[in-house]
Amino acid sequence: MALLITSECISCGACLPECPNEAIFETRGDAEGKGYHVGEGQGEGDSIYVITHDRCTECVGHFDEPQCAAVCPVDNCCIADPAYPETTDVLLEKAKTLNPEKAIDPAKVWSGVRN
Ligand code: SF4
Ligand code: SF4
Repeated sequence: MALLITSECISCGACLPECPNEAIFETRGDAEGKGYHVGEGQGEGDSIYVITHDRCTECVGHFDEPQCAAVCPVDNCCIADPAYPETTDVLLEKAKTLNPEKAIDPAKVWSGVRN
């Protein structure tokens, strides 16, 4: 499943440059304006960061853990989104499709993937 950003977000911006899939946007309106879908409840007030499940691979194929959660200074701010479950295989294929120019490592998988 993708991750989501909760209303605890302080809009510090630390997560955005760390995402290997460009799945993070400064506001819901920014993401939607670029044609991406944002799950219910994220980005309320259009003033905090959001993750689009269209591009989030939970960092599978790139890193051993979600980078947004790793760098976020707020506890329980970047969490798994139960609305969008995806298996490791699906996430790896998504990572390849999104990043045809990058090497995708099938060994880079975190423990939170719901297979
Ligand atoms: S889990 Fe990884 S791919 Fe998903 S939004 Fe966070 S940094 Fe980006
Ligand atoms: S690192 Fe955390 S607090 Fe900062 S913008 Fe990203 S989700 Fe919000």
